[in-house]
Amino acid sequence: MKYITIAIDGPGAAGKSTVAREVANRLNYTYIDTGAMYRCLALYAIENHLDYMDDDILADAVDNLNINLTNNGKVYLNDKDVTRAIRGSKVTNIVSRVSSPRKVREKFVRLQQELAKNQNGVVMDGRDIGTVVLPDAELKIFQVASPAVRAKRRYEENLSKGIDTPLDVLEEEIRQRDYLDANKPFGALKKASDAIELDTSYLSIEEVVQIILKYAKDMIE
Ligand code: C5P
Repeated sequence: MKYITIAIDGPGAAGKSTVAREVANRLNYTYIDTGAMYRCLALYAIENHLDYMDDDILADAVDNLNINLTNNGKVYLNDKDVTRAIRGSKVTNIVSRVSSPRKVREKFVRLQQELAKNQNGVVMDGRDIGTVVLPDAELKIFQVASPAVRAKRRYEENLSKGIDTPLDVLEEEIRQRDYLDANKPFGALKKASDAIELDTSYLSIEEVVQIILKYAKDMIE
């Protein structure tokens, strides 16, 4: 059996994490949600009243984070379950800023590369996985969907977690985050030249999962 590395990039709320986790589970691979890692830094900055406009303070804070991602989607920060806390609007609104400094990204990229090592198959999702973190990934997917569709997906995902943010607020958050993520000086959202672009606006989660599994199985088998 050959194990491959799968990189899934794309804008926020395109359904990447749901799809990536499902693909990983069906292949029995390890799933790594890099967005959750940056969200942990944002939460840590809020809880510890850090000046998140200060690059050095943020970069130093990364060393205080012990992040644990489980394959069933739970996120632990310094042994505390923060799965729900990292999805709230406060975190979402500052995470693009918090994940911008070069020193912060260098530390996280190194951490993510370490996590991906020595695994029997990895699915990693984020913004810069195919371009920076795992440029040698065998399968690269660039998953997109329209802002309106993404807002609706995030709305439903939030509701299932007991978070009730209005749809129009979510769509505005998504548009702002798209802009910030695409214009970052380092680690900007960018399609790798060898990535397969998948517009999922009119596809169900299961359909997207099946498409990615087909590409993966063609490489594995
Ligand atoms: O994927 P998710 O929406 O949880 O990511 C949260 C934020 O973390 C993104 O808006 C982006 O600013 C940042 N991020 C990043 N690089 C990654 C993954 C996420 O800069 N690889």
